[in-house]
Amino acid sequence: MGMESILKARELLAEVTPLKRDCGRICGARCCASLEGEETGMLLFPGEEDLYETADGWRMVPAGREMLIICPGKCRREDRPLACRMFPLLPVPGEDGIRVRTDERSRAVCPLARQGKRGMDPAFAGAVKQAGETLAADPAQKAFLLRLAEEQEELRTLRKRLGG
Ligand code: SF4
Ligand code: SF4
Repeated sequence: MGMESILKARELLAEVTPLKRDCGRICGARCCASLEGEETGMLLFPGEEDLYETADGWRMVPAGREMLIICPGKCRREDRPLACRMFPLLPVPGEDGIRVRTDERSRAVCPLARQGKRGMDPAFAGAVKQAGETLAADPAQKAFLLRLAEEQEELRTLRKRLGG
């Protein structure tokens, strides 16, 4: 299910990062840190779990229709799940194609989230868009992106209600 599009999307995001320099140095890699006593997982794209079946130190936990992955806290770029490769942006399918938006879940964590993609390397935002287009051409992946978009809408509404 969807492995070709996942591999292609991962490849598109293999080298690019939000900034030309290592943004983890600015913030101490906050997006990779778990809160004390809490494990933070990333949602895997449908089928992406197959890539981690035998990976040491990675653990998968079902979360409703999706699968969460708990990472070892440090990783090689080639092992990084798609969710981490795109963070703090997210491709959102719309009537006029893929739009790249700031991931609502990044706002509390990532210092780059406030400025959004305007403050990031255009090559990174471009790669997120291309990865989104690749994924959206696959029905299972598109359905997942649409579920994420729905969740983003709920989070956005909540943030606005709370005055964020
Ligand atoms: S929290 Fe944001 S700035 Fe920090 S490492 Fe993650 S993506 Fe980069
Ligand atoms: S998989 Fe890698 S990039 Fe993603 S949270 Fe874990 S250490 Fe950070």
